[in-house]
Amino acid sequence: MSDFEYANAPESKAIAKISQSYDLFIGGKFTKPKKGKSFNTINPATEEVLAKIAYADELDIDIAVSHAKLAYTKVWSKLPARERGKYLYRIARILQERAREFAVVETLDNGKPIRESRDTDIPLAAAHFFYHAGWADKLEYAGLGNKPKSLGVVGQIIPWNFPLLMLAWKIAPALATGNTVVLKPAETTPLTALLFAEVCQQAGLPDGVVNIVTGDGITGAALVNHPDINKIAFTGSTEVGKSIARSISATKKSATLELGGKAANIVFEDAAVDEAVEGIVNGIFFNQGHVCCAGSRLLLQENIMDEVLEKLKKRMSLIRVGDPMDKNTDLGAINSLEQLRRIKDLASTGDSEGANRWSPECKLPTKGYWFAPTIFTGVSQSHRIAREEIFGPVLSVLTFRTPAEAIEKANNTMYGLSAGIWSDKGSKILWAAKQLKAGVIWSNTFNKFDPASPFGGYKESGWGREGGRHGLAGYLTSDAKVSK
Ligand code: ADP
Repeated sequence: MSDFEYANAPESKAIAKISQSYDLFIGGKFTKPKKGKSFNTINPATEEVLAKIAYADELDIDIAVSHAKLAYTKVWSKLPARERGKYLYRIARILQERAREFAVVETLDNGKPIRESRDTDIPLAAAHFFYHAGWADKLEYAGLGNKPKSLGVVGQIIPWNFPLLMLAWKIAPALATGNTVVLKPAETTPLTALLFAEVCQQAGLPDGVVNIVTGDGITGAALVNHPDINKIAFTGSTEVGKSIARSISATKKSATLELGGKAANIVFEDAAVDEAVEGIVNGIFFNQGHVCCAGSRLLLQENIMDEVLEKLKKRMSLIRVGDPMDKNTDLGAINSLEQLRRIKDLASTGDSEGANRWSPECKLPTKGYWFAPTIFTGVSQSHRIAREEIFGPVLSVLTFRTPAEAIEKANNTMYGLSAGIWSDKGSKILWAAKQLKAGVIWSNTFNKFDPASPFGGYKESGWGREGGRHGLAGYLTSDAKVSK
């Protein structure tokens, strides 16, 4: 099956004009970091250096926050709400106009297939700006209290798995609700955030409303700890989320935290098997499994296990792994060497703890960071690969006999971000959805995202929601509660 021939269909890089080096975006201008430090961002599919990126330290963060504060008090908080909306619409349209350029830069910097950055990341990012543009002058009618008020300056820290999309999830609601922003992209994927800075200039956004500071975890911690930050919005690992929660615990700062997950994708005996197999593949192999809501634990009803596994393996043999810039590629590069090591380490605990590993035959490129699509069968609940987030293309398969056992196993996790249910019976879907402790539940589909739909987790998967009316509430004063 792996011989299935496809002609190469590479996307051109010509549209992406990546500079040799990038400065910080503060107060509407690109400015050098005070200490002149920098780091490289690379293409994980080739290990080539793409650009030199400015490294922001505490002093740079202080300058960025003071610009955001000034922009808040002097300009943004005084602007009529519909004017804010106009800027958001403008940004959304520019993102659409420059979509191809953004998709190419995202794929080069992140390693994800161009098909996904082109068809998912960039269109959804634009959709988030369109959606929130519509809310800007309607907040009083959103059921969020009489006169909902913005918080002030928001510090936003995002991960590397959906760089531009996570930026949109953060910046669009913050601006729509009247806040100003200092955003730090992840150290391995800063390029689309810096391109977005150019979009802010192109849209004529007032200086200082959006500031982009690049750096690592130390830069992020400086942002979290800055006294003039009123709120932190973070997406990333549970470990860092907990450290942020500790840092702000004795302050008046509010926070939304979107953290890890270990979602159960439950396939009942009455499910449409072929569709479920597509959903399983999408659930764990979309974006190389670098997805916090990935369906990384497959729960199969025991009597259909053989049939599902046979079809799943056949389907996995058709997954094309390789050059992310090829439009036929399904599974691209792992985002960094560090992440590749994490995936390899956790997968090897699957072997040592007695689970059975299977991957289709596939040739991995010699340069860059790669991991073949993998499933483990014979997994029990105590195995590390059933409990810990791998954040890679690795699926752990467990079985169950009764619906009650499926729920018990699905909820037996410290996480609670998402879940999937595959069944022909509406009543069973509703019953299961009610029992599952997960913030997002998909039925007979997986990994569907919409700006109007709130996203967030239970337990160690985080605090608060992003998207929809619930997401707006996180950027407004605390008396703004979402009415049912
Ligand atoms: P991952 O483990 O998936 O790389 P992280 O949680 O480490 O996710 O990183 C997500 C984002 O959080 C990145 O932008 C990273 O630079 C930032 N970050 C890492 N450590 C800290 C910290 N201690 N405080 C604030 N931000 C941090």
